[in-house]
Amino acid sequence: MGFKAVAANSLDTVTLPDGFSWKTLVVKRNPLSPATPKFFHATRSTGVAQEIQFGDNNDVMQLYTRDGRAVMVANNEHSKRRIPWGTKASKLPQTEGDVSKGKASHGLSLFRIRPGGSCWEVVLDATENRHITADTPMDIVGPACGHDLLKTESAPIALSCSALGTTAALAARPEAPIRRTRKILTATFSPTTKKWRWPKGFKRCGISHKDWGDNWAMADDRCDIAKHPNEPHRAGYVVEIDPFKTSAVPKKRTAFGRFKHENAEVVIAADGHIVVDLGDDERGEFLYRFISTGTYSKGGNNSNLLKDGELYAAKFHDGGKGDWLHLPPATIGMASKADICIHTRRAVSAVGATTIDRPEWVAANSHKTEAYCALTNNKNRGKVTNKGGDAVPAVGPNPRAGNNYGQIVRWRLMGGDHGATKFAWDLFVIVGSPTVHDDAFAGSQNMFNSPDGIKHYEAGILYIQTDGKYSNKGDFAGMCSNQMLATDHEAAAVAAASWSARRSVRSQA
Ligand code: CA
Repeated sequence: MGFKAVAANSLDTVTLPDGFSWKTLVVKRNPLSPATPKFFHATRSTGVAQEIQFGDNNDVMQLYTRDGRAVMVANNEHSKRRIPWGTKASKLPQTEGDVSKGKASHGLSLFRIRPGGSCWEVVLDATENRHITADTPMDIVGPACGHDLLKTESAPIALSCSALGTTAALAARPEAPIRRTRKILTATFSPTTKKWRWPKGFKRCGISHKDWGDNWAMADDRCDIAKHPNEPHRAGYVVEIDPFKTSAVPKKRTAFGRFKHENAEVVIAADGHIVVDLGDDERGEFLYRFISTGTYSKGGNNSNLLKDGELYAAKFHDGGKGDWLHLPPATIGMASKADICIHTRRAVSAVGATTIDRPEWVAANSHKTEAYCALTNNKNRGKVTNKGGDAVPAVGPNPRAGNNYGQIVRWRLMGGDHGATKFAWDLFVIVGSPTVHDDAFAGSQNMFNSPDGIKHYEAGILYIQTDGKYSNKGDFAGMCSNQMLATDHEAAAVAAASWSARRSVRSQA
């Protein structure tokens, strides 16, 4: 691996292998322009200042480079209430200013970096520095553009610009920076009245009276779904931005479907079609892929390739075979492709795709026609249906009921073609604790839980980042803090095989 592994520990710091060191690059609420005031603890800043400060909690970051410029893009997934509203006893927003601060702490923070004296540093006066927030204007593109369900009082033609906001982010390639919207489905919309008839599909998307305490509806009518019930149909899409061109309006890619997107992994198939693998980070929801109608041409204009294409959902059969299921509107009982892009989860339930243990990052292996997905955990597996009433049996790539640990599934497309509809799959790693358990929860003899971000960087090496329990007690005893792991594909495959062998011995006994 080129480094010596670090022993697990619970220190409140970053521990690196010998020969490596770390330094802080940017902190929550750091200004991203010379004109932005610094964060004052006594007042907890303002919404206006927050719009060009580094935002809240990060789930991903990626560095993009072009013409000697290096732009870091980090998502700001949610807001820790005690930071923006810590001056209030309730720690909740109580004024319009509080709400604007909350909205501006979400989204994506972009900033140029350069080598400094001893480490990288933020270039404060760079033109690329900006913060995409819940109020940033965006275009709606793809099949759902102009659909009646996306029309609102402020956007009567449902095309563009007034579809505001993103509240989380991630993934992809420098050529095609793609970001996600996610928590906006659950965090920002709520009715200001309890007496309200819920429109079809809202509960499936996690929209309810709970709004995670963000309370945006208090000061922003757009977030009051009793007044504007179509607003949530305008959120939950992958958003594409250009990190180098600040004048480019971000695009909501409705062709990728509407759900709790994690990353969007982009691959160019041998015949030039763009394949995008997508996870829906919700218990018992689905794994998706998009294939573009058009094909990539080197040096040509490829900017509209992600506008139109077909969406598929994964079906994992027992015995290691699988299919990407097409979603024909007639079979599903929906009027058009646009309806599928808006009510995506319902569409996939109708074709019987496999319910998955919270699929987070997908990572394509550029050296083989295969991809991996981190299924982070699912305490409801084998116990509670998903919100659409689909069964969640403990079989296939989700073999354990009450799964608190997670696993990574891998699939190989048939015929060496990323666009193939048939694939073979196996479990690359089954996460667990061999010291606490001697059954299936012992896993593949590893000590970590909740794999989240995964990425191939060198041939044969997969990096795995965890976002899990770090109590170091009970099921998690000995796991200590969250970890970044590097794994050799072939060695890990041996470990997974040995787990399968042990399981079969147990079932015989
Ligand atoms: Ca994540």
